[in-house]
Amino acid sequence: MYSSTAVVTGGAGFLGSHLCDKLLEKNFKVICVDNLSTGNTDNISHLSGNDNFSFIKHDVTNYIFIPGEVDYILHFASPASPIDYLKLPIQTLKVGSLGTHKALGLAKEKKATFLLASTSEVYGDPKIHPQSEDYWGNVNPIGPRGVYDEAKRFAEALTMAYHRYHGIDTRIVRIFNTYGPRMRPDDGRALPTFIGQALKGEDITVFGDGSQTRSFCYVSDLIDGIYKLLMSKETDPVNIGNPDEITVKEFADEVIQVTGSKSKIVFEQLPIDDPKVRQPSIEKARKILGWEPIVDRKKGLEKTIKYFVGLSKS
Ligand code: NAD
Repeated sequence: MYSSTAVVTGGAGFLGSHLCDKLLEKNFKVICVDNLSTGNTDNISHLSGNDNFSFIKHDVTNYIFIPGEVDYILHFASPASPIDYLKLPIQTLKVGSLGTHKALGLAKEKKATFLLASTSEVYGDPKIHPQSEDYWGNVNPIGPRGVYDEAKRFAEALTMAYHRYHGIDTRIVRIFNTYGPRMRPDDGRALPTFIGQALKGEDITVFGDGSQTRSFCYVSDLIDGIYKLLMSKETDPVNIGNPDEITVKEFADEVIQVTGSKSKIVFEQLPIDDPKVRQPSIEKARKILGWEPIVDRKKGLEKTIKYFVGLSKS
């Protein structure tokens, strides 16, 4: 018997599909709504035949019709990797604005709790380090990445407006770089790209001199944090990520070592507005949610590499 009903927009994507798994494990009935623009039904095929799971192919920038009661709406629909949102700039702005509006409208209609998947990109190329939730960010609105960063900033503003004006129960999670099985090997982010190149023995392409930093969170840790936030009463944004920071060059070396590859590192031009540093402050999540990541990067990398090796064989 299920306990509550949750709608997950973007549920056929990398994070959304893991979230569907988690909610089903917690005895939720889950309705996944996705237009499959960057997601794939392969990510949810293991759930077909599960009576508590259903999939609706729908673009959430249009009115979302869901019959019956809904208790939670988790809005994850959005292109998320630079390759995707640079290819789909207007769709990215639309799903962050119109899509968030439609998802909040559904929350209002159903009197449901709404959770927005926001991003560390709201901090832009940050002037304070590590980034804590009270930092307002340094985003270039008219640069190529602005389509994603500003869509998410607008989505946060709209979520807070629905919370304050309509009294909707809302949550905002600011997700930092996350990795794990079901990432697309060709999504252009450093981690899957490096793994793919290492496995094929190709040159590993590091942007700039590789001194920029990133902090990678394993997907199971992120999903645990998001579930704890959903169950909390916190309506202000909360960072969820792993503060274990590494330079991109060091990370490329680590991938070579873990895969046992003979690949060499080559350096390419840094993309416009690429953040120089990225590390979450997770003090708030520790204090309010009693959450912190537990999977170390080497372990997480091994699991992800195993998934990528499996993909290349299938
Ligand atoms: P993803 O591309 O794998 O998943 C996004 C899903 O949204 C896809 O299945 C796609 O088909 C769907 N989608 C896009 N536009 C849609 C629309 N108009 N209507 C319905 N469905 C639509 O990306 P992901 O990495 O799983 O990211 C999920 C969410 O988490 C995104 O909102 C992203 O901004 C956020 N996020 C992810 C990360 C990360 O490290 N992966 C970091 C910060 C924030």
